[in-house]
Amino acid sequence: MSGVPEPESAAAPAAGASAAGSSPAEPPPVPGPPTEPLSVPSSPAEPLSVPSSPAEPLSVPGSPAQPLPGPPAEPPPVPGSPTASYPDATPELPPRSRGVIALLAENCTVCMLCARECPDWCIYIEGHKETVPVPGSGRPRQRNVLDRFAIDFSLCMYCGICVEVCPFDALFWSPQFEYAEYDIRELLHEQDRLGQWLATVPPPPAHDPNGEPSREEVTARRAATRPGIR
Ligand code: SF4
Ligand code: SF4
Repeated sequence: MSGVPEPESAAAPAAGASAAGSSPAEPPPVPGPPTEPLSVPSSPAEPLSVPSSPAEPLSVPGSPAQPLPGPPAEPPPVPGSPTASYPDATPELPPRSRGVIALLAENCTVCMLCARECPDWCIYIEGHKETVPVPGSGRPRQRNVLDRFAIDFSLCMYCGICVEVCPFDALFWSPQFEYAEYDIRELLHEQDRLGQWLATVPPPPAHDPNGEPSREEVTARRAATRPGIR
């Protein structure tokens, strides 16, 4: 029991030392020299380059740092194409386009032909009979008086049958089409509104100068050339 203890490294035998007599002062050969440390990639001296470091921000699509690409340029209009950028550009429709139906109420005789032929039953006509005295005749004459004429354009399928069958030229097509409504009930056009569309009806096409004269023209000419008529 001396006062200075001996170090353990010197007193303890080397681990793995065999009892065959190998000296504890000669360690087993190490493959690599202990003076050359292994190169560790994650050593603190060489920091890894992190893509998301604050010095190099990631390019996020739509980030404020990068302006968004503008809208694609409009392709040039194709010559002869019917497509137009409505309402920025008003389309050039043929004059006989079926936009809306106009009514010339003075010509309507309340014959009901158009209302009966309409496949959608969207023409509403009301009228009454009036007795009209005929000068020089003993019997008065009766005639129909129009009270109401309306077309529901929310049901109309623009077939044109009503315009075709009217025997008194009271209905006409107008190319006007800008009458869309937020309320579907507003598409029921009454007589006044149907009459306002008359101003947008194009004039009829000119007669073919080489065509046959109409029956009315022939009758009028015969009557004018009849003897005794001045
Ligand atoms: S165009 Fe056809 S569907 Fe429309 S009101 Fe005339 S007949 Fe009826
Ligand atoms: S067919 Fe012509 S005349 Fe007869 S009710 Fe209709 S619009 Fe009037």
